Amino acid sequence: MLKEFVESKYSKGISECSNEELYVALLEMTKDLAKDKESNKGKKKVYYISAEFLIGKLLSNNLINLGIFDTVKKELSENGKSIYDIEEIENEPSLGNGGLGRLAACFLDSIATLGINGDGIGINYHLGLFKQVFEKNLQKEYPNPWIDQASWLTDAGKSYTVQFRYHTVQAKLFDIAVTGYENRTNKLHLFDIENVDENSVQDGISFDKDDIEKNLTLFLYPDDSDEKGQLLRIYQQYFMVSAGAQYILEECMAKGSNLHDLADYAAIQINDTHPTMVIPELIRLLMEHGICIGEAMDIVSKTCAYTNHTILAEALEKWPLDYLWKVVPQLIPIIFALDNEVRKKYDDPSVYIIDDSRRVHMAHIDMHYGYSINGVAYLHTEILKNSELNNFYKIYPEKFNNKTNGITFRRWLMHCNEELTSLITDCIGNGYKKDADELEKLAGFADDEAVLEKLLAIKAKKKEELKEYLEKTQNVTIDPNAIFDIQVKRLHEYKRQQLNALYIIHKYLEIKGGKLPETPITAIFGAKAAPAYTIAKDIIHLILCLQKLIEKDDSVNPYLKVVMVENYNVSKAAKLIPACDVSEQISLASKEASGTGNMKFMLNGAVTLGTLDGANVEISDLVGEENIYVFGEDSDTVIKRYEEGSYCSKDYYNKDEVLKEAVDFIVSEELLSVGDKEHLERLYHELLEKDWFMTFPDFADYIAVKEKMFADYADRKGWAKKMLLNISKAGFFSSDRTIAEYDRDIWKTGC
Ligand SMILES: *Cc1c(COP(=O)(O)O)cnc(C)c1O
Repeated sequence: MLKEFVESKYSKGISECSNEELYVALLEMTKDLAKDKESNKGKKKVYYISAEFLIGKLLSNNLINLGIFDTVKKELSENGKSIYDIEEIENEPSLGNGGLGRLAACFLDSIATLGINGDGIGINYHLGLFKQVFEKNLQKEYPNPWIDQASWLTDAGKSYTVQFRYHTVQAKLFDIAVTGYENRTNKLHLFDIENVDENSVQDGISFDKDDIEKNLTLFLYPDDSDEKGQLLRIYQQYFMVSAGAQYILEECMAKGSNLHDLADYAAIQINDTHPTMVIPELIRLLMEHGICIGEAMDIVSKTCAYTNHTILAEALEKWPLDYLWKVVPQLIPIIFALDNEVRKKYDDPSVYIIDDSRRVHMAHIDMHYGYSINGVAYLHTEILKNSELNNFYKIYPEKFNNKTNGITFRRWLMHCNEELTSLITDCIGNGYKKDADELEKLAGFADDEAVLEKLLAIKAKKKEELKEYLEKTQNVTIDPNAIFDIQVKRLHEYKRQQLNALYIIHKYLEIKGGKLPETPITAIFGAKAAPAYTIAKDIIHLILCLQKLIEKDDSVNPYLKVVMVENYNVSKAAKLIPACDVSEQISLASKEASGTGNMKFMLNGAVTLGTLDGANVEISDLVGEENIYVFGEDSDTVIKRYEEGSYCSKDYYNKDEVLKEAVDFIVSEELLSVGDKEHLERLYHELLEKDWFMTFPDFADYIAVKEKMFADYADRKGWAKKMLLNISKAGFFSSDRTIAEYDRDIWKTGC
């Protein structure tokens, strides 16, 4: 089928085309095929609004979902071409930051796969988050442009006027087709401004923050450490929701809505607090259509639902009223009206929308004026109900519900691990691709030696492939016979990359002292730090210094290696995850809302080393204690310690000689010989004087459990059985299951 397309486009055969030409042909052919699959035209539609959609490269995923991946792969290889080489041509769209954005992307895949009428709404950032480059063992940020001449974006030929206090802009609509697995096609709607000026960016990622009409859609999460940066984020958020709300109302009216019945036509899922202004904006627009404010509030409250993604208080947005006044004065009377209604009903200031310091609590708007509030894993939702959002739970117990996150198996199994996909299919047939629960059948092979051997062989092959990839891209050599111990996720103190780094120091010192590990260990990291997050960048510096130090030391590097993968993104995740033996999920209990990386690793036969946090709790319940390595204090203990304010990291440091040694090494002469004093000393003092995310109390247990895990790894057959059981229990974490629950409990589209 590609042959005809290529011949008519280039007047030559596949074998005569360059990979670049073939990529463009495949992109165009795929877009045509996707267009022909109509979306569900049902009355009620889901609008998933999100500041991030971390969609990853789309070519192979679309080919899989359209059911033509194998045919195209074969056709290419018969002509001496490789789909894998052509995949590399595509730029990865940089429209997200981490798990929250990746979740939105998995959800769109599952919504289309289940045939639900539902689209995404977001922003078309031209330069994305940023591209991470390591220079002198430090993270440097550069723009990450991704929109080429040939791209997945289609100009929808529509635009909406968005009015700010001092500017009026046109929001142009671009669409990306979202193919469902052997099903319909939906859309991701991305809004953009006409006159984006990529050339206004200088010296890394700095640019003139005043020039809204040129910079509005340049970057995701522009630096907000000053007022101008915060204003820019408000500009972006309002831009997205105003254009989105206009689009939604237009579409619903075209289908026959009189707007009084909007909730019969639309369910708007607000992904975290960034799109919260859609609530006052919809009210404003309904009022323009002649509906009074009271009824408008009522209509919107039946249409919008909110997903909470964090219990870190600092991550819940609170915008100064004055800033909103400078950008979107038209929303101010509505926000006051929303706050007044709340004040009339409740005399608890902790649930007010506008606080004493004239800050607007965005999550409070969502909870009062949305009909559903969901957390993203069992433990997370319980913590929201019982502590973080307890005041709201007491008012609205019926609104709270849990939707444990999931991942799409099309990308995180079928695409990234074809070998494992075939093995599973050989064992249990194809049914699990559409009904993930069928993976359970794999447990029947837990004692089948031939299957276990094959599982180990596949893991070995994926490790070999990763070794070659890292050699080619980062010029580092790793040993595929080592244990691949991987921690990849955004860099944040609560995720505790620093705890893993302390373990590496400990292991380094042990090896120097003559105690050698039974199996060599390769610790792999990948993480971007927010550009203004100083300590996170210091942690990256520490890891890169350890990498350098060990690289140079031939007495250590046969037994221990450290690799920090540059610019961690979806494409890199797809290469790292299938090659992983040990999945590091070591956040401070209570702080990781769910995690989805943990699910991807499990599905690919890695065994989890983790705290009882987020979805690790559910993983542990599913696989049983034989098949996961759990350590550390539980969430109740941690929450209590925060409440008491009693934590003193020095107490642990002074009591534990092994910990003290590891911590002191951060500022040792050895490390300072490769690293930078300012960064290392700052991190050292942070740990010793604060350690806000309590790495020290978990350190000893982390080491003990990790040693046990590494010892168990040596029993290859026993380990293979753990791998297999993890895979067999991963069905629960299919985003198809999550989305079916959203639809059943929240959206009720009735399809
Ligand atoms: C899945 C994923 C994440 C989320 O990982 P967590 O471990 O859940 O934080 C972040 N970034 C990328 C590129 C991912 O694919």
